Amino acid sequence: MSRLVIISNRLPVTIKKEAGDLIYHPSAGGLATGLNSLDESFEKIWIGWPGQDIKDEWERETVRQDLKKDGLFPVFLTQEQIELYYEGYSNKTIWPHFHYFTQYTSYRDHYWEAYQQVNRQFADEVIPLIKEGDLVWVHDYQLMLLPAMIREAYPDVSIGFFLHIPFPSYEVFRILPWRKEILEGILGADQIGFHTFGYMRHFLSAVYRICGFEHHFGMLTVGDRLVNVDMFPMGIDYNKYAHPEPASEESETAQKIIQLAEEQKLIISIDRLDYSKGIPQRVRAYANFLEKHPEYRGKVTLVMIVVPSRANVSQYQALKQKIDNLVGRVNGEYGNFGWVPIQYFYRSLDFGDLTTLYKVADIALITPLRDGMNLVAKEFIASKEASKNGVLILSEMAGAHNELHDSITVNPQDRQDITKALLQALTMDEAEQAKRLEGMQEKLKQHDVRNWAATFINEQKKLMESQKENI
Ligand code: UDP
Repeated sequence: MSRLVIISNRLPVTIKKEAGDLIYHPSAGGLATGLNSLDESFEKIWIGWPGQDIKDEWERETVRQDLKKDGLFPVFLTQEQIELYYEGYSNKTIWPHFHYFTQYTSYRDHYWEAYQQVNRQFADEVIPLIKEGDLVWVHDYQLMLLPAMIREAYPDVSIGFFLHIPFPSYEVFRILPWRKEILEGILGADQIGFHTFGYMRHFLSAVYRICGFEHHFGMLTVGDRLVNVDMFPMGIDYNKYAHPEPASEESETAQKIIQLAEEQKLIISIDRLDYSKGIPQRVRAYANFLEKHPEYRGKVTLVMIVVPSRANVSQYQALKQKIDNLVGRVNGEYGNFGWVPIQYFYRSLDFGDLTTLYKVADIALITPLRDGMNLVAKEFIASKEASKNGVLILSEMAGAHNELHDSITVNPQDRQDITKALLQALTMDEAEQAKRLEGMQEKLKQHDVRNWAATFINEQKKLMESQKENI
């Protein structure tokens, strides 16, 4: 039986200490769903940080033993490592830089040192676990040095790497002081995957200009190895959103959402608090729409969910303030006693409320300035499986836009463009809505997250077999 060794920053489980006891909460994100669905011919193990600073060696050993039963292997990080490697280099250097926010990038040597050191620590955990014939799959921007570290220990093991965020154009990437080391780290893999053709092209161009390796149809020759670079757009768990399990009892929130949708045209906006999501620009565009089209005042409501994220990073705090102020201004200026133009919530919704919102919303207004993929857009489309009613307005800067051509495309910085798109969405007839939705649903059904994981792994397996033949 083949074995798949998965490595990501976070394990698909969170450990919490409650009244002195260790409690394990499985977190079934998209990645875990996709990987769990891989056919049974794979035995899987997963290595990552369990999300809790556990200092005591005896307690660490207990956690190790508990997780091992499920094929999970923890990498314990200290609070300082989390600050410097995760919040520092990953989220204050790579995240803004790769999303084209170079004005927010921190170029700090001690972040970089921690990043190298933690990648090394992951390597030290993984290397003793690897066996001959394993397929290794490394995930995301927190672990870009890891493929080369594993390669050094195992010259012949098959390694895949997938980047879940954008890869920026060479002109932006080259600004990063550690650009060569990052590329050399990733190039330790045999197969390198991105969400879109654009990210893949940028990567290949950076590799050529910085490392000097040319590619032939995405195939790079690195020393005596062939490295396959390709696009693998990540999908969602389609059925989970198309046919959500009916809640035993609708929550009060869900009932309120349903009631609001009966009275108003509902526009939804759902993201983590992040400067890449274009939230202030979206609020300003909505205000512009209300200004230009007063006939819609009192008839539409923007339900805006902003999920708290990275709250101890200063740019995120400033952004929160900006959004609070803007929403206040718009509601103050346009609202009246019977109507609030923006219903704003700074919190996350549980699955039942989230899917209710998707289901009853008339329009999803998704306008990131940059987004690796954007799963919310895909989830909204899937949630319209039964009703065939709803319009997606989507930024051309979201990775998902490459697959969702039947959305209304907008430039997220263009207020007039978004205003026009809102009018078009509000006046679109039902037949047209259904036609657009069906086209997109078909694609998302076929390319769901299971298909994504299986395609990546099958390609990697084929590559491994062909490389064996060439030895
Ligand atoms: N989400 C959630 N609760 C909420 C709002 C969103 O669990 O209240 C989920 C949503 O279903 C989606 C994910 O958060 O799967 C956001 O993923 P996306 O790719 O859109 O953006 P990211 O946050 O990864 O940048």
